[in-house]
Amino acid sequence: MPSTRQDSVQAIERLTQILGQERVRTSQEELSVYAFDGTAILHQLPACVVLVDAVEQVADVLRIASETCTPVVTRGSGTGLAGGSVPSPGCIVLCLVKLNRILEVDTANLTMTVEPGVLTQTIADSAMSAGLFYPPDPGSIKISTIGGNVANNSGGLRGLKYGVTRDYVMALDVALVDGRILKTGTKCVKDVAGFSLRDLFIGSEGTLGVITKITLKLIPPPETKATMLGLFDRMTDAARTISAIIEARIIPCTLEFLDRTTVTCVEDYAHIGLPTDVEALTLMEVDGHPAQVAEAADEIEKIARAHCARDVRRAGSDDEAAQLASARRTAFSALARRAPTVILEDVTVPRSQLAAMVAAIESIAEEHDVEVGTFGHMGDGNLHPTFLTDERDEQQMHRVEAALKQVFETAVELGGTITGEHGVGLAKKPFLPGALGDVPLDVMRSLKGVFDPDGILNPGKIFD
Ligand SMILES: Cc1cc2nc3c(=O)[nH]c(=O)nc-3n(C[C@H](O)[C@H](O)[C@H](O)COP(=O)(O)OP(=O)(O)OC[C@H]3O[C@@H](n4cnc5c(N)ncnc54)[C@H](O)[C@@H]3O)c2cc1C
Repeated sequence: MPSTRQDSVQAIERLTQILGQERVRTSQEELSVYAFDGTAILHQLPACVVLVDAVEQVADVLRIASETCTPVVTRGSGTGLAGGSVPSPGCIVLCLVKLNRILEVDTANLTMTVEPGVLTQTIADSAMSAGLFYPPDPGSIKISTIGGNVANNSGGLRGLKYGVTRDYVMALDVALVDGRILKTGTKCVKDVAGFSLRDLFIGSEGTLGVITKITLKLIPPPETKATMLGLFDRMTDAARTISAIIEARIIPCTLEFLDRTTVTCVEDYAHIGLPTDVEALTLMEVDGHPAQVAEAADEIEKIARAHCARDVRRAGSDDEAAQLASARRTAFSALARRAPTVILEDVTVPRSQLAAMVAAIESIAEEHDVEVGTFGHMGDGNLHPTFLTDERDEQQMHRVEAALKQVFETAVELGGTITGEHGVGLAKKPFLPGALGDVPLDVMRSLKGVFDPDGILNPGKIFD
């Protein structure tokens, strides 16, 4: 339901009365900080920003928003890359970064229970301090919140072996639009009591409720890890190496790649000593028991060389491993320096179609005369074609839009999807019907109607 200025004014008055002025921000200066997320081009000023530090305050915000029909856009750190936390016109931004306590590390059940504003890196570090491991590691690990990770079902560099955020969420508390708290899931490894509402909220992008507590599964950490870089003169050889590794029944924890444009930008930025004339670079990591790791690393090196790798570099120490891995970890920052506007995209195809998708992205970029650097989670079939452009150049933006449309259509034609980990938000909304078809969208709309009958939770995201 669209809000009017009158609704927002009334909501702000009541929020200020109940939560205090210090939690309700309305100055233009502060609002402008929350007008965008990590997505290029999209921005919109909200009516106010509410910084809550207790779950009861979340419920208060939702009750007031419901009563005044004011939209609510829940926000973690705002690093999303599909416009999920970009404000809707006249909305309350409900920012959860101060709801950030670690509530429990349960070493008997191997779980951690946290509030949604805890940074992902803090979760990884706290698990490690308890001798345990939280595997999901989005590239934004140092700045993203776990609430944002759950709401987007974020992936990361270890997805191939360890899965994504969903695989580690055991239980959630969710504040519903009327302020009631729904509890779903338990610490039990097995639990099939009723529908899995927990799974419905994972990846729901703030459109069904506000996640206020999360219980995560932890696992024992791997004993050791081997890190390798493969350098290839031909992209198809890199793609075939990835397929051959999987066919050999080796499941690395990391199987990433960078194309030539990205390698050049990374070398320019991080000075790692990478040759800038290679067509593809792969980052390959295996972890586990030392004997298995050594054997798998040897096998991977053999496979890469058999597929014409120009060189395979293996790290001899933790520092060297971190340096090799930084080639991949700095990819986005390195590309972001290259152009005024950087559009980081996210398509996934079945792994057998990787070489075809990479080739298609290159030819689409050429056809539309746009510059694209591609990197991504090759082991997952998840590619990030990154468009280097300038939003002030209208002609160029039209060409980028046409190229993007073609990239998404090609991914779907190859049996893939329009987003592997960033979500739909605003940016992918126009492409969702083409990817899913009518029936799934109708069912999603019906579900949205059950949880949010007046359409005030993150309106206009995923679908209208
Ligand atoms: C440099 C960089 C690297 C990245 N690398 C990766 C990567 O490797 N893998 C990956 O998957 N993503 C990646 N991302 C995207 C982004 O970091 C993730 O989507 C992340 O999970 C967003 O977390 P956030 O706290 O910033 O959430 P926000 O951007 O603030 O919000 C994201 C969405 O979640 C909703 N939301 C947030 N908190 C809650 C809550 N508590 N309850 C309900 N809804 C909520 C918002 O409304 C919004 O729709 C990257 C981004 C950047 C900038």
